[in-house]
Amino acid sequence: MSDPVDLAQAREEEQRAAALADQALRAAQVRGTGESAVCCDGCGTTIPEARRVALPGVRLCVDCQRDAEWEEARRSANGMRGAA
Ligand SMILES: [Zn+2]
Repeated sequence: MSDPVDLAQAREEEQRAAALADQALRAAQVRGTGESAVCCDGCGTTIPEARRVALPGVRLCVDCQRDAEWEEARRSANGMRGAA
């Protein structure tokens, strides 16, 4: 027996995964352009050189990047739900 709520939730999970994949793709495209920030745009902490070398054009420290990605993924998911 298929519960409509379960189906809706499964579809929402699918959309979230798609949004995350899209986000990763865009992040990869952005990578390699621009200048890496010495200090995080978010919190001002120094970004380790290894991270700046590994991610050319990086603007955020690991913590802020993760927060930003969560925020972006959440926004995408909300936007999709609103458009549907
Ligand atoms: Zn930061």
